[in-house]
Parts: sequence; structure tokens; C-alpha cells
Amino acid sequence: MKKAIGIDIGGTYIKSGIVDETGRIIKSQQLPTLAEKKQRDVVLSQIEKSIKFLYDDDIEGIGIGTPGIVDDEGIVYESPNLPGWDNLNLKKIFEEKFKKRVVVENDVNTIAWGEYLFGAGRGSKTMICITLGTGLGGGIVKDGKLLRGGKYSAIEIGHIPIDYRGPKCKCGNYGCIERFVGRDYIVERAINGIKKGIKTKIYELVNGELDKITPKIISDAYNLGDKLAEEIWIDVGICLGAMFSGLVNLLNPDVIVIGGGISQAGKILFDTVEKTIKERAMKKLTENLKIVPAGLGINSGIVAAGALIFQK
Ligand SMILES: [Zn+2]
Repeated sequence: MKKAIGIDIGGTYIKSGIVDETGRIIKSQQLPTLAEKKQRDVVLSQIEKSIKFLYDDDIEGIGIGTPGIVDDEGIVYESPNLPGWDNLNLKKIFEEKFKKRVVVENDVNTIAWGEYLFGAGRGSKTMICITLGTGLGGGIVKDGKLLRGGKYSAIEIGHIPIDYRGPKCKCGNYGCIERFVGRDYIVERAINGIKKGIKTKIYELVNGELDKITPKIISDAYNLGDKLAEEIWIDVGICLGAMFSGLVNLLNPDVIVIGGGISQAGKILFDTVEKTIKERAMKKLTENLKIVPAGLGINSGIVAAGALIFQK
């Protein structure tokens, strides 16, 4: 059976493993990224250590999922949380070191490919996959291929504007979807509600310490029947549904996969997203649409990075 090494580079950890062509992890390890040392070579050496630990001659290749924009030649740009991770030819560096095929892809596009090949998007024709956490990322698979731009990885779903007069986003644009559904902005809704004097279980759950509010706390409050928490999740669902209705009209996906920590909000979120899409997108284009939670689980980044080798 074919095997590949999958490397998932995060701001805190580099997770890596040997993945077989069914998506099973045979061996894995986790090393600190050491981004705080602020030296590119230190992070590169952590990646090299990960590969050496897993390497054997049967490996088909090495798939690397990295934050940032990745061009067609495997050069990474604009990854602010990693030191010097700009204009960095990751593909060339590791192909020369290990004499194996190396595929480098943006981390969220990588997850999308993994979900398509081994997870909740299996068997679909056109799939949109988002991960909802600190930010909102996404990837699209169309006709069995990961959608990319003219030269770069593209598909920056989080920076699709849903309100052209909306608040300024850190990307420089206004009213991007991420500005409404990113982790901090969800928490901000709860804090604003409390400051307006709304009585809420969210406040009780953190004993009045507003900086302890997390999306998980808001979910816990919702499960206790809290009205403000319900309003927050419904509004987050409507924002996402509004964005997806544009994407549904553009692409007619058969599956939308939603993953990431905040997707744990569960039924209220998924139901609202679905209802909003059904109300707003063109009817015919929603006929066969399924909206499902991500399927790869905790090691999704490793499995998905390995999956890059079973594609290109
Ligand atoms: Zn933006």
C-alpha cells in the first residue's frame, strides 16, 4: 500500500505522520514549532527532524500543509505567525534534502483536500470546506481537483465581504465574513450584550470575568437555555448562511463541510446555516446540497497533508 509523510505546520506545533492511501496514520509525532525563537532556520530544522523520524525508502512523497499563501512552485508567502515565512521555497528545500516529491499547500486548502479524499466530503463532486476557529478558512474541491487561483493558493473564504459598509477587517477590507464569525468577534457579541445589561448565563458561567468568555462558554450557556447565547449562534449562522448562499450560487456544491473548534456549537449553528442558505440561495442550486460536520477529527492536519501526495 502507498504511504506518504504528512506535515501539518501550526504556530505552536508541527504535527507529522506516515499516512497510507486509505487515510490511516501509521506512525506520528508532534514537535514544538519554536516560532517564538523568531528564526526561520529553527522552524525549518524542526520540520526536518519530523521528516527524519518518519522517513523510510517506501515513502511516495512528503505533503506539507502550511499557513500562508502558496504559489504553484511551492513557495510560501505572507504567514505572519511564523518567522521569515515569506518568499520561502519549502518545496525546493525538502526535495533537495530528501530526494522525494514534496507537495506544499496552504493549510486550510490541505484540510479541504483531506476532507474530500478521506473525510466528510468523500464522493462529492463539488465541495466547499470551511474551518471555523480564531479565523475562518476554507478550501474548495471541484471535479476532483483542489481549486486554486491563477498562480496562488487563493480561496480566502474568510475575507469574502458580506457587508460593504461593515467593520474594518485586519486584511484591510471592510465587512469580511471573518470579522463577524471569527472567535474574538463571537466573544465580543457576548461582551457587548452583557455591557448593555442583558441578563445571561454566560456572565454566571464565568463568574463575571468577561475575559474568560469563549465560544465554548457561549455554547454551554445555550445548552442551559440562555437567550443571548441563542441569539449569538443564530446570528453567526445567518452570517455564514449569507456567505454560503453566494458561494452556492457561484459553484452549486453538493456538500458543504464545516469544521474547526467553533463548529462544536453544533445543531443550532448547522440548522441556521442550512435554513439561511435555503431561504437565500437560488432554489435549484440547493436541491442536492448537504451540510455536514468535518469528518477527519483531531489529526486532520496530518492525514490531509499526507493526502496531498495522493493527488497531484
Ligand atoms: Zn478581511
